[in-house]
Amino acid sequence: MSHAAAEPATITAPPSLAPVARAVGLHKVYGAGDTGVVALDRVDADFWPGQFTAIMGPSGSGKSTLMHCLAALDTPTSGAVFIGDADLTRLGDRELTRIRRDRIGFVFQSFNLVPTLTAWENITLPLAIARRTPNRAWLDTVIDTVGLRNRLDHKPNQLSGGQQQRVACARALAGRPDIVFADEPTGNLDSVSGAEVLGFLRRSVSEFGQTVVMVTHDPGAAGYADRVLFLADGGIVDEMADPTAERVLDTMKHLDARPATAAAGG
Ligand code: ADP
Ligand code: MG
Repeated sequence: MSHAAAEPATITAPPSLAPVARAVGLHKVYGAGDTGVVALDRVDADFWPGQFTAIMGPSGSGKSTLMHCLAALDTPTSGAVFIGDADLTRLGDRELTRIRRDRIGFVFQSFNLVPTLTAWENITLPLAIARRTPNRAWLDTVIDTVGLRNRLDHKPNQLSGGQQQRVACARALAGRPDIVFADEPTGNLDSVSGAEVLGFLRRSVSEFGQTVVMVTHDPGAAGYADRVLFLADGGIVDEMADPTAERVLDTMKHLDARPATAAAGG
């Protein structure tokens, strides 16, 4: 179009958009004194609307802690976490509960369905607890997208692992949250079921404009995302736009080969 030099690939959205979630100087220490473990070391990160972010890094690098702090399931030692305009570190328990309930969806590695409830009851349980009227059209869209239409009367033990995780995804999206956090959602699934779940998360972003943050060990899973944040020793050490499984694998090899002292430099 113009003769100006090509702009570098942008990872962040235009500044006119506000992040859905944001970590600012997020610091988390477990324990105290000599035995204290720095799980997160002053992490800054923005999560933009309609963006699918994968978080990767070695075991113990702080992935789950980052996600739990962002999702109001854990409290930082210092720094701030924003969901929209709300600084979670300034809110009381009641307000945090409301934000978790109304604005955040979760998908866990272990599905975490209620065994005595049907798929339909599991999907709508958070809405029932919040006394919210389900948006039927939206629920229908979600249920059809995850392909659970003819399984709604089944209890979890009548469903395969992949089907259970699709129920969990539908439950996370039922209230149309601002952001969905998924901690290794395919970790307990075979590759075919995993691909179905990843395909659904991808569609929720591409077709419905949802914002998704997913922790994963699997470069193939990260390839479904719009960008990857790489964590090591509690800090973000790399970021990749439009990842492919191959490029992610390559970056992970370099991170693994890093000398341990490199972490201290920041
Ligand atoms: P990841 O999810 O990347 O494997 P985590 O966020 O679970 O990493 O853990 C980061 C670091 O914090 C690790 O050293 C871990 O041992 C430590 N850690 C995590 N949770 C706790 C806890 N509840 N108590 C003490 N240490 C913890
Ligand atoms: Mg973890």
